[in-house]
Amino acid sequence: MRYSIFSLAAQTLAGHRGWKPAWRDAAPKAEYDVLIIGGGGHGLATAHYLASRHGITNVAVIEKGYIGSGNVGRNTTIIRSNYLLPGNTPFYEHSLKLWEGLEQDINYNAMVSQRGVLNLYHSDAQRDAYARRGNAMRLAGVDADLLDREQVRAMVPFLNYETGRFPIQGGLLQKRGGSVRHDAVAWGYARAADQRGVDIVQNCEVTGLTIANGRITGVETSRGPIRAKKVALAVAGNSSRLAAMAGMRLPIETHVLQAFVSEGLKPVIDNVVTYGAGHFYISQSDKGGLVFGGDIDGYNSYAQRGNLPVIEDVMESAMGLWPGLGRIRMLRHWGGVMDMSMDGSPIIDHTPVDGLYLNAGWCYGGFKATPASGFCFAHLIARDEPHPVATAFRLDRFATGRVIDEKGAGAQPNLH
Ligand SMILES: Cc1cc2nc3c(=O)[nH]c(=O)nc-3n(C[C@H](O)[C@H](O)[C@H](O)COP(=O)(O)OP(=O)(O)OC[C@H]3O[C@@H](n4cnc5c(N)ncnc54)[C@H](O)[C@@H]3O)c2cc1C
Repeated sequence: MRYSIFSLAAQTLAGHRGWKPAWRDAAPKAEYDVLIIGGGGHGLATAHYLASRHGITNVAVIEKGYIGSGNVGRNTTIIRSNYLLPGNTPFYEHSLKLWEGLEQDINYNAMVSQRGVLNLYHSDAQRDAYARRGNAMRLAGVDADLLDREQVRAMVPFLNYETGRFPIQGGLLQKRGGSVRHDAVAWGYARAADQRGVDIVQNCEVTGLTIANGRITGVETSRGPIRAKKVALAVAGNSSRLAAMAGMRLPIETHVLQAFVSEGLKPVIDNVVTYGAGHFYISQSDKGGLVFGGDIDGYNSYAQRGNLPVIEDVMESAMGLWPGLGRIRMLRHWGGVMDMSMDGSPIIDHTPVDGLYLNAGWCYGGFKATPASGFCFAHLIARDEPHPVATAFRLDRFATGRVIDEKGAGAQPNLH
């Protein structure tokens, strides 16, 4: 069923009784050409691009929970391509371009909203760093505007400009950045892949990888063994666990990241705003809730829940930036498990096991990457060579020293 104004009108006249489930609840077959582990944004996008761009449709996405139960349904929905380093900029810009055409491509309303992402600066040194970043972006064909304090004040007048511990001096704006409804991304990719014949298998946990003579031959799951010619890992915060099943130790640590949403308010903030003097960012959802977050919890965990010290830390930054927030009520908070790589950049690569591919290390920036990640991972799996915009995301860079340390923070997950 194709979604359109005509299908909506027809269903309206029929009392909305004819809508079909968005995807089949497939049972696993005995064998696939490609088996993708992880039904998050990246796994589902990979399946869609394998089927739609490479004609490979004997594909299964194996998800241990339900579609959208991982980080794809837990993130704060920000998309942007304001990166500095050559290894990152073309990839994230490719992703932003795919976001711009996504709804037509997958015939699904993902509520892509290019409302602008504004990174605030609070010192001369930070302004210089943002000017450099903005110049690098423009040289790479990415939009960027450096704003002074009065330009920022005209956009977001209610922030604390003068009396905060770190007064706002200005900001770097990417107008094409914004937000996308995250669960719609999962549902839209699942539906698009399913329509081309991909099996979306939910409630099926991969418990082992079957390897013979250095080559992957299939997986063990909670619903029995499945054979596969190629297996692709896209399990985000569980990457180290799955890689360990193949005897691999990844340069990745898993940490919790929390997010928060307030009660619904009338429209109050049009853009995504990030605080430059602490780790805090905020936007407003289409339902009216203020959506915000901050730093990762400072310990390793695979539990999708966080702890109180980071909540206090995030609220302190919130009050420092926007004191009026003290008068709103919190509705919910939650956590997700992040695959923090040691240089803050992702991995899209082969592994030492023939036929086993790895997509991991997204830290807390993987939602914006979803389309390009799936696009480039599908390219790698189908052609056995990296896509031109993802050549830097190699697993061996931690051995060769060719790391992509966007923030110059070294191997410290809490600073990425
Ligand atoms: C609170 C929070 C805020 C964030 N905010 C942003 C943001 O604003 N912008 C941004 O760009 N990024 C953000 N991120 C990061 C982003 O959400 C992730 O980097 C991205 O979603 C990871 O890729 P994914 O969607 O494929 O992951 P997931 O949705 O986590 O998918 C992985 C899937 O693998 C499944 N799985 C794991 N083990 C197995 C197994 N053994 N067998 C079968 N299936 C398995 C899991 O159940 C899960 O569904 C945020 C993350 C969090 C938690």
